Amino acid sequence: MVLTAVTKTQPAEALAAALATGQRLFGENRVQEAQAHWAELRSRVPDLELRLIGPLQTNKAADAVALFDVVETLDREKLADALATAAAKAGRTLRVLIQVNTGEEAQKAGVPPEEADGLVRYARDKGLIVEGLMCIPPADEASGPHFALLRKIARRNGLDTLSMGMSGDYETAIRFGATHVRVGSALFGERNRSETPSSD
Ligand SMILES: *Cc1c(COP(=O)(O)O)cnc(C)c1O
Repeated sequence: MVLTAVTKTQPAEALAAALATGQRLFGENRVQEAQAHWAELRSRVPDLELRLIGPLQTNKAADAVALFDVVETLDREKLADALATAAAKAGRTLRVLIQVNTGEEAQKAGVPPEEADGLVRYARDKGLIVEGLMCIPPADEASGPHFALLRKIARRNGLDTLSMGMSGDYETAIRFGATHVRVGSALFGERNRSETPSSD
């Protein structure tokens, strides 16, 4: 189980402090902010791993491919097309997770659970390296059943990576087999701007 430190909205000092402890996996939910945070550090910290954990628009696919090692939020065929094209242009392979909307919430990103297998196949056919699944359970429900559902979908697709669990529920996520927990405020303190993980 590894920790993805979520540095969105954090000042440069917080990033430096985390790097000084040896932390190398970081999550960001906006491409532009991630560029501001990491574009320059990237060249100085060779073993950095940057993971996009927020929704991605197809017109930012090339920027995302240029900066991130892993895109955790692939949730539709059009985005798979855009990422595959951008990766090919950049001459690299791209590691992705499929984001599953386990709670089937209308406003939340993620592929519906019953369409996840199809999207896994589609992304693989496009040459993307599908490593696993990611979810953000509904804020007002127990997380356990959502983590269990994600694990079940991963197993039947032969996927190892489960990115699930945040500050409020990472212990539950670990019990349900999380390989990556994405923790922000429990590490860095509350964010200044109020922001929900499902926004934009
Ligand atoms: C912000 C964010 C997190 C971290 O949330 P905390 O509650 O601060 O730990 C995790 N995952 C996603 C997708 C996020 O946007």
